[in-house]
Amino acid sequence: MIDFNRPPFTGKELDYIREAIERGKLCGDGEFTKRCSAWMREKFKVSHVMLTTSCTSALEMSAYLSGVQPGDEVIMPSYTFVSTADAFVLRGAKIVFVDIRPETMNIDETKIEAAITEKTKVIVPVHYAGVACAMNEIMAIAKKYNLKVVEDAAQGVNASYRGQALGTIGDFGCYSFHETKNYTMGEGGAIAFQDDGYLEDAEILREKGTDRSKFFRGQVDKYTWVNYGSSYLPSEMNAAYLYAQLEMADQIDRKRHAIYDYYDEHLKPLADAGYIEQPFVPDYAHHNAHMYFIKVKDLETRTDLIRYLREKGVCSVFHYVPLHSSKAGMRFGRFHGEDVYTTKESERLMRLPMFYNLDMKDVEYVARCILDYPAFNR
Ligand SMILES: *Cc1c(COP(=O)(O)O)cnc(C)c1O
Repeated sequence: MIDFNRPPFTGKELDYIREAIERGKLCGDGEFTKRCSAWMREKFKVSHVMLTTSCTSALEMSAYLSGVQPGDEVIMPSYTFVSTADAFVLRGAKIVFVDIRPETMNIDETKIEAAITEKTKVIVPVHYAGVACAMNEIMAIAKKYNLKVVEDAAQGVNASYRGQALGTIGDFGCYSFHETKNYTMGEGGAIAFQDDGYLEDAEILREKGTDRSKFFRGQVDKYTWVNYGSSYLPSEMNAAYLYAQLEMADQIDRKRHAIYDYYDEHLKPLADAGYIEQPFVPDYAHHNAHMYFIKVKDLETRTDLIRYLREKGVCSVFHYVPLHSSKAGMRFGRFHGEDVYTTKESERLMRLPMFYNLDMKDVEYVARCILDYPAFNR
């Protein structure tokens, strides 16, 4: 069976985990956590990066630091992972979903303004498949209405918009290092921000509401409880795994692009014949080959093609069930405007196997199976 995903492994991970253990510090903010955040600060040109236990935690931190209060409204696409909404629901916010653009599956920036009310506090663009949302337009709307922008860049690590790293354009950027993402630590994430004004509050929030970070820097001689907080620090063992991956980021990136390009080139005849649609990357975006998806005619075709591939030993999966149609989505949110594309496009989309250690022979086999699918050869 060709898996849909396997966690990437590049070779140095075990050495670094051993090193973390030998350093005698397994809790958060040790040597490897520092190396990971320094790597990201430099590579993504951003003032502050803090590793977290997940992208969900980074989103929770962003929701809190954005000052979201009960009853505030937060605008996001319905076509996203539950965490994008959960983090704001935790603060008592109402989620306002707007439609997506069919070609990128990203939030349709032209639908945002009409969804803004006096209660709106935050816009959350989700960079689906590591392909940037229309950030200039979104930032302009946020500026006009004095809103915060929290980028869900869970899938957008090491991708960019007009040369700027995703996650560094809005007020906060949230990354995921879950095992299904490009670079991983099993479970983990990071929050990025440019504004020094958030630093102290972010440190306190991440350190259980204490001024422990100041204590370690020698700025206070005792640390105490100063505000609300939680525990968002990952262990050094996880950070050690991640650092090995970040060091190999170029290699991981190249391999993922090779897989992406193979699918894209070899499945093109099916797109030309009108059987499938392939991903579209706008000129302003440099993507990170996080995902390769195709869109087929309808839900029925997708179900049958996934079944067919499984019989051939290939595991492909569909993606998000739109949040506004879920039980929690109905309770915590509402859809503003018409759902023209969200449901329809989500039902047609399927993702093909894509991970660092995937053999190119297997990639060829997957493409061959799709090309041979009987319904595409009538
Ligand atoms: C994976 C993902 C998340 C959640 O990431 P975790 O690190 O598992 O919390 C959030 N949003 C999007 C768009 C994702 O793809």
